[in-house]
Amino acid sequence: MSASQPIKLAVIGRGLIGSAAARHLSKMGHEVALIGPDEPADFARHDGVFGSHYDEGRITRVYDPQALWRQMNRAAISRYGEIAAESGVEFYREAGALHVGDSETTDVASVGKVCADEGIPCEAYQDAALAERFPFLKSTAGMLGFFEPGDAGYISPRRLVRAQTIAAERAGARIIAEPALGILETGTGVTIRTRSGSVQAERVLVAAGGHTQSLLGRSLGFTVYRRTVALFRLGAAEVQRLAGMPSMRCLGPKGDNPYILPPILYPDGHSWLKLGGDPVDCRLDSEADIKDWFRSGGSIEVADRLQTQILDRISDLKFEERRVVPCMTTYGDTGLPSIGPLSERVTVAFGCYGKSAKCSDELGRLGGMALLGEVRAELAP
Ligand SMILES: Cc1cc2nc3c(=O)[nH]c(=O)nc-3n(C[C@H](O)[C@H](O)[C@H](O)COP(=O)(O)OP(=O)(O)OC[C@H]3O[C@@H](n4cnc5c(N)ncnc54)[C@H](O)[C@@H]3O)c2cc1C
Repeated sequence: MSASQPIKLAVIGRGLIGSAAARHLSKMGHEVALIGPDEPADFARHDGVFGSHYDEGRITRVYDPQALWRQMNRAAISRYGEIAAESGVEFYREAGALHVGDSETTDVASVGKVCADEGIPCEAYQDAALAERFPFLKSTAGMLGFFEPGDAGYISPRRLVRAQTIAAERAGARIIAEPALGILETGTGVTIRTRSGSVQAERVLVAAGGHTQSLLGRSLGFTVYRRTVALFRLGAAEVQRLAGMPSMRCLGPKGDNPYILPPILYPDGHSWLKLGGDPVDCRLDSEADIKDWFRSGGSIEVADRLQTQILDRISDLKFEERRVVPCMTTYGDTGLPSIGPLSERVTVAFGCYGKSAKCSDELGRLGGMALLGEVRAELAP
């Protein structure tokens, strides 16, 4: 099937990867139905599916230890402007990204080496120079930092999904804001069952995040894990003091290596500083586990640890309220997303690793291409 022949396609999952795939496929001239529900209004009472994009901050950076991820980051970041222009929705702030760690006990130096080898613009700071450049850091003695000033910062995943959905719709995609309840593949097509009826497609791309394997009824070698995020509401003075703060990756042993987002304005009109970094990976083995986890509101124990960590890292931090939010992530054995066909008519695109928001536009594009028959062998399930 040539990519230029229009065909009838469905994308299941209106998250970061699915909405990106729908935009790319629609722009190529295909007839696309993008199927997936809106964000649940109340997690505790929601009995449907959940996603990993219900937030305003995801770190963006080019750096990654693996070449393929760097390539995908670069490709996606280069299209942020295009997506914003097509949709009228801004979702990216170039605040920069700081990778920081103890120069003796962490491998932070390897970040600088990869950046130097791969031509990623990056500034190095140590001890007093680190304190001078980032005065909000509480402790910098013995610390080394590598700062990516450009093509780095954060995106709002919520706004990016909105932007991709609008752009896909403007390119002709039909949005069906409902979950898929089942997929049936026959010799002539695929039937996708929803509450309001069935959708017929010639081929379908499943990009349902943590729900992907249960929707397909088979394992693709990925495990779904709980994640807890802690958010701290800041007053005006703290927001002003931390105005120059970049996104941060703190290197250290598991459980003491938080990622931290700078103050971001949330839909409630307040600015919140967010961090995450679970000490233990707790599995979510079934649909019921996933739903129970989201309904639970997250782990207070993890949030307490995160609170200690933020107070240890940002000097004199004053916050007015704390919020705890549950999320989920998926990890596979290969360290790479799974993008490719499962059968003649069903293709999959997912794989979170806590880092696929920034490059989701490229993952969605690759998912769309795989649906059309062009598969990258190293990503094939
Ligand atoms: C706490 C946390 C922090 C993160 N931080 C970062 C970061 O700083 N930087 C970064 O780059 N990445 C980060 N990530 C990763 C990123 O958010 C995820 O990788 C990304 O959301 C995955 O996109 P996706 O499209 O696969 O899944 P999702 O974004 O979860 O989308 C899946 C969609 O599928 C839908 N769906 C599920 N089942 C069905 C069904 N049956 N029918 C229809 N639709 C369905 C859901 O409603 C959802 O909208 C983080 C993830 C977590 C959990």
